[in-house]
Amino acid sequence: MKPVIVVHGGAGRIFKEREEGSRSGVKRAALKGYNILKRGGSALDAVEEAVAVMEDDPHFNAGRGSVLNEKGEVEMDAIIMDGKNLASGAVSAVKRIDHPIKLARLVMEKTDHMLLTDQGALAFARAMGIPEVPGEKLITERSLDRWKKNLEADSNPQEFQKDLGTVGAIAIDSAGNVASATSTGGLTNKLVGRVGDTACIGSGGYADNDVGATSTTGHGESIMKVVLARLILFHMEQGKKPQDAADAALNFMKTRVGGLGGVIVISSSGDWAARFSTKQMSWATVKDDELLCGVHAGERHRQSVEEAMSSMGS
Ligand code: ASP
Repeated sequence: MKPVIVVHGGAGRIFKEREEGSRSGVKRAALKGYNILKRGGSALDAVEEAVAVMEDDPHFNAGRGSVLNEKGEVEMDAIIMDGKNLASGAVSAVKRIDHPIKLARLVMEKTDHMLLTDQGALAFARAMGIPEVPGEKLITERSLDRWKKNLEADSNPQEFQKDLGTVGAIAIDSAGNVASATSTGGLTNKLVGRVGDTACIGSGGYADNDVGATSTTGHGESIMKVVLARLILFHMEQGKKPQDAADAALNFMKTRVGGLGGVIVISSSGDWAARFSTKQMSWATVKDDELLCGVHAGERHRQSVEEAMSSMGS
């Protein structure tokens, strides 16, 4: 099987000043994951590392750069899933760690559970030796600014809500295994304790070697109502190709509950799609040593892996 990785950096409205950073961020993440796959690494390792790259990147709403809740704190959700055995691990409302996706993987591999939240997740992180970072390390000037603006009496939170940047990755490795990973800071000025779609299996992501894998982004409450990730795989089980399955599911979410979002999808034969009903979604993929990426509808920027690596200085 030829390895393939697809990543997204969130669906919504990507403001001009964030566009270039978002584009290079998804490229860097896709290249990181692809290099792991090329060396014979697993899809699981590839998606975890690709997402961790974007958690470190302040251009995205995950890890450092996460949006703030109503109290001005970072609370993050993440999920990872292994298509080989349907194992999955997730964390919700976690604070003060750099890489929620790595904690989600530990939940999957080191516990009998699938989702740990808030204080329990933090205690588990400590027990696993994950260093606690000061809360401020994850807060950027931009997220602080947006939080403050949203508190102003004449603010339009809807406008800010659209500028989302959840991250996700899906991959197929040379052994034919698929995996999915998604990580987010959630929605701006959300209530304390709000858990979004990202932490919920079948909503924020899903992976099954028999069908494929997907990672989602967008309005979490809408995504949960239609169980978007699993719905896409259902359409694929009924014979739809990734692109048609993604469009059918996104269209259903829009017409049935008025929700917008974006998805990346890969089939067990390595066909892929990156689709969104929002204005924009940053995405990148690498297959056959060729990198494709885009931010706007219809955009497909093509580069060889070699070219992309040298243009990114790596
Ligand atoms: N789905 C995420 C949430 O609602 C937000 C996003 O995708 O940007 O928590």
